[in-house]
Amino acid sequence: MDVTIFGTGYVGLVTGVCLAEVGNNVLCIDIDPHKIELLNSGGVPIYEPGLDELIQSNRAAGRLRFSTDAQAGVAHGLFQFIAVGTPPDEDGSADLQYVLAVAQTIAEHMTDYRILVDKSTVPVGTADRVADRVREVLAQRGQAIEFDVVSNPEFLKEGAAIEDFMRPDRIIVGTDNPRTGELLRALYAPFNRSHNRLMLMDVRSAELTKYAANAMLATKISFMNELSNIAEAVGADIEKVRVGIGSDPRIGYQFIYPGCGYGGSCFPKDVRALEHTARGLGYTAALLQAVEAVNFRQKDVLFAKIRDYFGGDLSGKTFALWGLAFKPNTDDMREASSRVLMEALWQAGAQVRAYDPVAMAETRRLYGERADLTFAADALAATEGADALVVVTEWSQFRSPNFDAIRSRLRTPVIFDGRNILDGPLACTAGLTYISIGRAPLL
Ligand code: NAD
Repeated sequence: MDVTIFGTGYVGLVTGVCLAEVGNNVLCIDIDPHKIELLNSGGVPIYEPGLDELIQSNRAAGRLRFSTDAQAGVAHGLFQFIAVGTPPDEDGSADLQYVLAVAQTIAEHMTDYRILVDKSTVPVGTADRVADRVREVLAQRGQAIEFDVVSNPEFLKEGAAIEDFMRPDRIIVGTDNPRTGELLRALYAPFNRSHNRLMLMDVRSAELTKYAANAMLATKISFMNELSNIAEAVGADIEKVRVGIGSDPRIGYQFIYPGCGYGGSCFPKDVRALEHTARGLGYTAALLQAVEAVNFRQKDVLFAKIRDYFGGDLSGKTFALWGLAFKPNTDDMREASSRVLMEALWQAGAQVRAYDPVAMAETRRLYGERADLTFAADALAATEGADALVVVTEWSQFRSPNFDAIRSRLRTPVIFDGRNILDGPLACTAGLTYISIGRAPLL
């Protein structure tokens, strides 16, 4: 089938590549000429495991093309995927200008039936707004061309995006037109073979399902972070509590890890957007407000521990940071906990020496050249002469470090583990003080 994707970010690129991989003829459109140029010269604008290889093989097979020519994009695909950003506005609502701009473009150029498939995360009612925009433009053109707007939210996880798209837990398709639903079912058939995971529903329920999923996951994290602070206060160990509650199948072990707060491009903005939607309708979403507030506070926990340990004076100190990305296996720095920590350390007059397997270039792009931020060639090098080691992102390669080597390099023998991934007792044996989340320090 012929498919057009608007937006070549994390979602658009992965969607385009995976649809091409199963044999579709995919044209990806972006307004960013640098991105398209890079993709057309064999580069990849983001880090995502497995993506590079799939882009190259599908380009070589002629099934995947990249362009800035929106008109050609509209002419190409029966399916017109909208996978552009929906960043938060100042008031927390989702900014729909990019989604509506794509709707406008499609309406300006379409000459026959098109299915607009909304993959961006958008508030309930957006499909109606997209349809209104298309109708308005078609009316201005004096055209009466048929079209449908489908809600097809994306649930992929950065860092495992290809795998998630190829083997999804569910494929949500929101449409009021059964015929369009069947066309989407056919498009998704290769990803839906072992058992049916495609759920057809009305458009509004599909739109809300995406927010509900992210809000639930964010709630689990904030719940555990709240508990970790209580555990610390009462002298309990949150990791033992975690194992204890996870054994109840109604709770389960997934996604109940305490840490230094959630970040990324989805949880923070989607929780805020859902809360904003509710508020606009006169409903106070108290739980969502608390989830957000707890996360905001949790992003300061590491800094507070560091400041307290050093008696409130951090000026002139250097901190080795392990991990910058908001989670492992991605270079995405949007709302990353590392940013809150680095900015607090700089504010306190400290220096940061960071190491991240893939997110250092993005960090340099965000902050530019500055004297209080340097990057190390590897994890151990970051600790050389530093006043402390701080673990911020739970990359696998940080989990079993050589504690003796760290001990011999650090000026002050202390580790702050913001993700509880290190073996504290082992670190202590090597002569290090180990400070983590939700449990007493090990000296
Ligand atoms: P992104 O910012 O990485 O990419 C968006 C792309 O859209 C950019 O390359 C931008 O240049 C392009 N764009 C903007 N306007 C355009 C236009 N008029 N025509 C063509 N291209 C245009 O965004 P993302 O992370 O891929 O997220 C896209 C949507 O998917 C968001 O709504 C997000 O909430 C949702 N989502 C993201 C994830 C994730 O893990 N990143 C997961 C599920 C859903």
